[in-house]
Amino acid sequence: MAAVVAGKVLDVPDFPKPGIVFKDLMPLFADGVAFRQVVDGIVSYHGAGSFDVVAGIEARGFVVAAAIAYATGVGVVPIRKAGKLPRATHSASYALEYGEATLEVHQDAFVGGQRVLLVDDVLATGGTGAAALELVERAGGVVSGFTVVMELGFLEGRKRVAPREVHALLTV
Ligand code: AMP
Repeated sequence: MAAVVAGKVLDVPDFPKPGIVFKDLMPLFADGVAFRQVVDGIVSYHGAGSFDVVAGIEARGFVVAAAIAYATGVGVVPIRKAGKLPRATHSASYALEYGEATLEVHQDAFVGGQRVLLVDDVLATGGTGAAALELVERAGGVVSGFTVVMELGFLEGRKRVAPREVHALLTV
């Protein structure tokens, strides 16, 4: 699985600003065979039936989250950047590898106690993941797992989301 991801992710130096090597997952998403392997790999790691809903982090997390939700017959909840959700939200601000951001989720996004699989494309410093995990819980969800397609191990994002576990298909 790591080789499938590694073979389809492109390094884009100095995007979105100098010094950042952006991991572009678009070639992976665009390849039907590789994308299905990634989605199936995540489902089989966590086990269909171990979650009641999938939450995806804007924007590339939406792509993977929706596919997992469809494959397992559950719903999908978006965790969005500030100002995009139309009704009452919980919000959490955090520092990024490149800048600052705020994430939001609808206050009624989850039925109390619903088991939530959280999904994103890349774990870098872990700020995004930590904020999203907090939002899931504040909105009444129970985190059953957190998966990323790819982890930048040298940024030690795992430490930031600890004691939560993160599953990554590929760590570089
Ligand atoms: P972080 O909060 O530092 O863990 O950043 C993770 C979020 O920012 C994810 O939603 C990623 O999509 C994005 N991100 C951060 N760094 C990168 C990178 N080097 N390449 C691609 N996406 C990144």
